[in-house]
Order: sequence, then structure tokens, then C-alpha cells
Amino acid sequence: MTTIIHCLRVWRHYLLGARFIVKTDNIATSYFQSQKKLSPKQARWQDFLAEFDYVLEYRPGKANVVADALSRKAELESISTVLGDLPTGIKEGLGHDPVPKELVKLAEQGKTRQFWLEDGLLYTQGRRIYVPKWEELRKDLIRECHDTKWVAHSGQKCTRALLESSYFWPQIRDQVELYVKTCLVCQQDKVENKQPAGLLEPLPTSEHPWDSITLDFISSLPKSDGFGSIMVVIDWFSKYGTFIPCPKDCTAEEAARLFFKNVVKYWGLPKHIVSDRDPHFTRRLWTELFKFLGSELHFSTSFHPQTDGQTERVNSLLE
Ligand SMILES: [Zn+2]
Repeated sequence: MTTIIHCLRVWRHYLLGARFIVKTDNIATSYFQSQKKLSPKQARWQDFLAEFDYVLEYRPGKANVVADALSRKAELESISTVLGDLPTGIKEGLGHDPVPKELVKLAEQGKTRQFWLEDGLLYTQGRRIYVPKWEELRKDLIRECHDTKWVAHSGQKCTRALLESSYFWPQIRDQVELYVKTCLVCQQDKVENKQPAGLLEPLPTSEHPWDSITLDFISSLPKSDGFGSIMVVIDWFSKYGTFIPCPKDCTAEEAARLFFKNVVKYWGLPKHIVSDRDPHFTRRLWTELFKFLGSELHFSTSFHPQTDGQTERVNSLLE
């Protein structure tokens, strides 16, 4: 009974809330729950046992031969010890890879302090085992530190940290990087570590014609009558387009003059001008020019189809 109490104390966090069976070969113990007369100690035990949901089951010693044998024979203890064939493989591989072969020689002669031998294994700083380049040893280790369920395909850093806690070989970093980059599972299930882009910020809807216009340039056209590019002005509301020929290297001042002559003269001054940042103009020039005109400037991000799609659409038509 003492054994049961001890085990329940140790495994209490596992057993609470679950129904379990305690098998015993002691027939007296199996009647503990229904015992009428209790010693003070047994009463304390019953008090402790009350929080568990369990059944005591009698199992005669005859039916428990295997477990008994294991618990009694000292030399059988090693059955529960994990013994991999990895150290054997590493030891064997040391003789096949010329680099550690040389290092083993140096270590044996006491010429290096960075490497030393222990039980036939080559160790380096941090008590890390040198893994030779032999058969699939290195790859197997990376797989163990990346693919197994307890690691669950963690990233390069985590895989490398795990590996480097116990193992060492030159270019371990490159090999881990290549392995993780080419891992099929990781490729199929990529984790995006970028911030979400956020909501789109649409431009204000215009209520009147020539309230908001978009302005763009079609440049690098063959020269004709001294003009090399076209200024495309589209009304946001009516989609009416105005195409103004302008010189190839149109300055901001020139563009403003042409804009006045061909747009403002007929339709008045727009409230908003949407323009992507064209190489013709700097943002500062625009801002200052149109601040002077009293117009707000909405810079659309370049190649942003949402904001200046209509001009781009007309541009392709015109071209
Ligand atoms: Zn993976």
C-alpha cells in the first residue's frame, strides 16, 4: 500500500481527473477501499486517496511472471535504457573522413586543444561530438532535429541550435540552411512573418466633374514637332480625358503651365490631383507647385493599380 501511495503522490498531476486501475498481487491491498477498520495511518491514506478515481484490481503473482522477472533481475535493467546506433556510426565514420582522421591524430599526439578523444568519439568545445562526413550521418541528424514530431519543422535557427547543442561539423550552417530551404513540408506550409498589409485606403470619391483628376505621363515616345511625351489628364468623375503634348524632359513648371492652359482654362482648378511619382517630377516640386495653386496632392504609390488604375487604363489605350 505504501508503494501505491508513493506512486500516486509522484504521478498525482497525471492521474487527477482520470479513471485508472491499480493492479496488485497483494490480495489484502485489493480490499483496501472496502476495509472497515482502519489504523490512523490507513485513515490518512484513505483521505489522500479520496481525490483519485481508481479501482484496485487483484492480479495473482502467477499471472505476472514477466513483469516480476524484469523487476527482480538486476542485469535486465538495461532493457529500459535507450541505446542508439548513432555513436557506433560516428565512431566508424571517423575512420572514413580524412578531416576528422587528421584531427584524431592531432588529438592523440596532444597537438590540439580544440579537439579531444573520449570513448572513441571526437569532441570539440562545448562537449559537442564531431560528426564525420560519412554515409548519411549528417543528413540523418538534421532530419532528426527538423522533421521529427517533437520539433515539428521549426526554422533554420531552431534546427541549428538543436543540432549545435550536441554536434559539430564544418559548414553545419550551410547544410542546415539548404536542408530547411528544400524541405517539402516547409515549402508547402510557409509561415508569413511579414506584418499584414492593412486596409486599402481608397481615394475620396468625387462628387462633381473635374473635382478630382488624375495626371500621368507617357514618356519616351518618338519626337514629333518638338514634343516627346504626352500628359494624360483624366477626370475622376466623368472619365473625360485630355491629352497634352509636352516636351520630352518636361519640368514641373512647364507641366504646370500646360496644365493651366489645357485643363484649368476650360474646367477650372481641380480640388484633388492624383499622380503617381513620375521621374519627371520630385515630390517636393509637386507639393510646392500645387500648394501655391491651393490644390491638395494625393500621391498614389507607384504601380498601385487601385489608386491610379483609370489613367493606366487610358494610357494603354492611347499607346
Ligand atoms: Zn521542414
